[in-house]
Amino acid sequence: MPTPPTNAGIAGGAAAESTAFNAALAVVRQVEPRIADAIAAELTAQRESLKLIASENYASPATLLAMGNWLSDKYAEGTIGRRFYAGCQHVDTIEAIAAEHARVLFGAPHAYLQPHSGIDANLVAFWAILAHRIESPTLDRIGARHVNDLTDADWATLRADLGQQRMLGMALDAGGHLTHGFRPNISGKMFHQQSYGVDPTTGLLDYDSLRATAREFRPLIIVGGYSAYPRRVNFALMREIADEVGATLLVDMAHFAGLVAGKVLTGDHDPVPHAHITTTTTHKTLRGPRGGMVLCQDEYAEHVDRGCPMVLGGPLPHVMAAKAVALAEARTDTFRDYAQRVVDNACALADGLLRRGNRLVTGGTDNHLILIDVTTHGLTGRQAEAALLDAGIVTNRNAIPNDPNGAWYTSGIRIGTPALTTRGLDATDMDQIAELITTTLHHTQPGADAGGNPSKAKYRLDAAIATKVAAEAGDLLEDHPLYGDVALT
Ligand SMILES: *Cc1c(COP(=O)(O)O)cnc(C)c1O
Repeated sequence: MPTPPTNAGIAGGAAAESTAFNAALAVVRQVEPRIADAIAAELTAQRESLKLIASENYASPATLLAMGNWLSDKYAEGTIGRRFYAGCQHVDTIEAIAAEHARVLFGAPHAYLQPHSGIDANLVAFWAILAHRIESPTLDRIGARHVNDLTDADWATLRADLGQQRMLGMALDAGGHLTHGFRPNISGKMFHQQSYGVDPTTGLLDYDSLRATAREFRPLIIVGGYSAYPRRVNFALMREIADEVGATLLVDMAHFAGLVAGKVLTGDHDPVPHAHITTTTTHKTLRGPRGGMVLCQDEYAEHVDRGCPMVLGGPLPHVMAAKAVALAEARTDTFRDYAQRVVDNACALADGLLRRGNRLVTGGTDNHLILIDVTTHGLTGRQAEAALLDAGIVTNRNAIPNDPNGAWYTSGIRIGTPALTTRGLDATDMDQIAELITTTLHHTQPGADAGGNPSKAKYRLDAAIATKVAAEAGDLLEDHPLYGDVALT
């Protein structure tokens, strides 16, 4: 018996949701009908898409509706009770409730709800660490209270010092994220970066080599967390390594925050008690609005709270309201059950894929995501991604460890179960999806460019197969309506 995808009880009932969304669209339509149409069309598109994108989800109507209002009109720079603007009492109420939910849910001493996204949350964390570990000690040594009190020469020295710090993060092709010190991102321009990776044969995180690299490199920051690693991570061990070399442990749980909230990842696998600072998005497994959040130990709280205006623009009070709603939902037993089903579904999907002869990086999963190595089908990630899309299955390509096809074409397909689990799909459905994916990849051949040379992008998928798979995927979705009670008029 699938659990209903909407949170009707929280949102005030099915009829209320339909009425609310229709009323909102009617108001928008009076000003710019094309926007109302596009919003409505997006619902149809989402309903018709078999979404296996590991970083996406469907927020509840209550979460969505909490964002569409006049809270957006308010400037509220500063922190709760200490704003640079007048009249922030209701924003204070909202931010305080959201922060309390976050602290209780994750057992964190401090929570900062203002980051606008996951990248912003990491920026806040980086600068909190630099302020706490580099800037404050320098001010203390010189006897200055504030950076404005430094001489030009001391200021220049401090700035140079801030630019000389080291960061150790997970390699991109092992599943790390661009914000963990890679050159295309500002983190790579701010820090000297080195990577730790996975064992080339097992694909599993290699803690011994991480320890060895940390001892040699002596980073200021060790970053844990990932976007594409299908296994649990031992954060207690990472903290031990960080302590040994005097590094701050920052864990970016953007992808798996919902599994931490839902108590599927506990003990050594729960980063919050082990990391000095934990950052996250709120819209992936956590199923809230698009946004970010920072949790930290008390010693970093003061600097984390300076995120705005340090690196963030003014807070988004309407999004903080939606974060509070989503965090309230995440504290329920229903959400714990959801988080467990996300992982159960990922395991069922992995089993189904393995039984049909697919190769999975690390041989399976114990979180919400799976990486299929599509080279066994003779394909690049780019070809596989496009063929699956033709067959109505939405995934994204992703590098695999030591990827022979590089970061653009790749050799992997990343899939995840958070969204389809919200829709109510179960283990039996996952087995059917494994069949659809395997059939599609099996009937896809690598193609050639205009000159007849092998291409890493072109492919040929049997049209009859694509139609058949898309029809079956459509049937599966019809059995599990999305925002099922919402009927747009
Ligand atoms: C998704 C992700 C981010 C970025 O989040 P945005 O909200 O898109 O800025 C950061 N870190 C990790 C590990 C992620 O998976």
